[in-house]
Amino acid sequence: MKIDIRGLSEDQIIEFFEKKGFDSYRGRQVYEWIWRKSCYSFDEMTNISKDLRDVLDNHFVINHIQVDKIQKSFDGTIKNAVKLHDDHTVESVLIPTDDRTTACVSSQVGCSLDCKFCATSKLKRMRNLNPDEIYDQVVTINDQSLKYFNRPLSNIVYMGMGEPLMNYNNLIKSIEKISSDKGLNMSQKRIVVSTSGIPKMIKKLADENLKVNLALSLHSAIEETRNKIMPFSKKFSLEEIKNSLIYWYSKTKRKITFEYIVWKDINDSIEHINALVNYCKSIPSKVNLIEYNSIGDQNFESANQNMINLYKELLEKNKITVTVRRSRGKDIDAACGQLANK
Ligand code: SAH
Repeated sequence: MKIDIRGLSEDQIIEFFEKKGFDSYRGRQVYEWIWRKSCYSFDEMTNISKDLRDVLDNHFVINHIQVDKIQKSFDGTIKNAVKLHDDHTVESVLIPTDDRTTACVSSQVGCSLDCKFCATSKLKRMRNLNPDEIYDQVVTINDQSLKYFNRPLSNIVYMGMGEPLMNYNNLIKSIEKISSDKGLNMSQKRIVVSTSGIPKMIKKLADENLKVNLALSLHSAIEETRNKIMPFSKKFSLEEIKNSLIYWYSKTKRKITFEYIVWKDINDSIEHINALVNYCKSIPSKVNLIEYNSIGDQNFESANQNMINLYKELLEKNKITVTVRRSRGKDIDAACGQLANK
């Protein structure tokens, strides 16, 4: 069985070459081809001799993703259906705004969580993505940004399919590759990892000494409500999550962003607003009020605009930064929570 060369570290590739009697710098060249140059065929590695390419061909394959289908929204958003080497499909999204291009990437095939309002939760989790599969999504969207918008990608959010903190090791490796000068050389400060809230893993991430930002999908600061709409969260109390976020801040000095959707008859009340305000006051944080994107479930309907305005007003009155996020790419099911391999 041939091995996927992209699963090896640079040192492991160098070691392979040395064992075969080749110079170690050959290993560095190959590593540069498969990462910084995103080259997916040994034949295209032009500074490497034919003999050596044959050796590589005999031992390794280069697994990589392939864009299966592209959909473009009227607002410029691009959704990619991405095929993996074993024929699974995930989705990644390019979101253009005036001054930035953001890549929204998937971290798992499907998702093991059960957020009632999210289309991805209807797909069961098939497997974790490898670091290279996450990296390739970013490369693909960077290429698209250059092609369609004449500028490189500026930001990356782990808000596609899956729960990044449940694919922890590969998440970290992908961040390292994306930010390495042997990879895409992008600043970690431009990366946001979004989680539904797994306290132990939030603490672990805080300990990594990375510069990435953290977003937490809160949606309700009242335990009973949150447990109803995100049943897995029964395992972790809001208090426990809070403590992990306080730890995050103490380690990183970076504010947490709470993602929050306001729904009719679920969290559209003063009681819920007060609970959110209190929760925010205990952790250096800001709030993104995100528009609900319908996934056709009768139980979820966006709250009316007055209620969203009231949330904004009361948060601001309490000196909590809040932004109201317009949805992008809705017409092609590319918006938050709509990724489901349709
Ligand atoms: N599992 C991670 C990352 C993926 S979800 C997490 O939960 O954070 C990315 C964001 O989209 C989350 O904030 C999620 O709560 C939100 N989302 C899910 N379904 C949505 C929907 N139908 N409309 C709007 N946002 C949704």
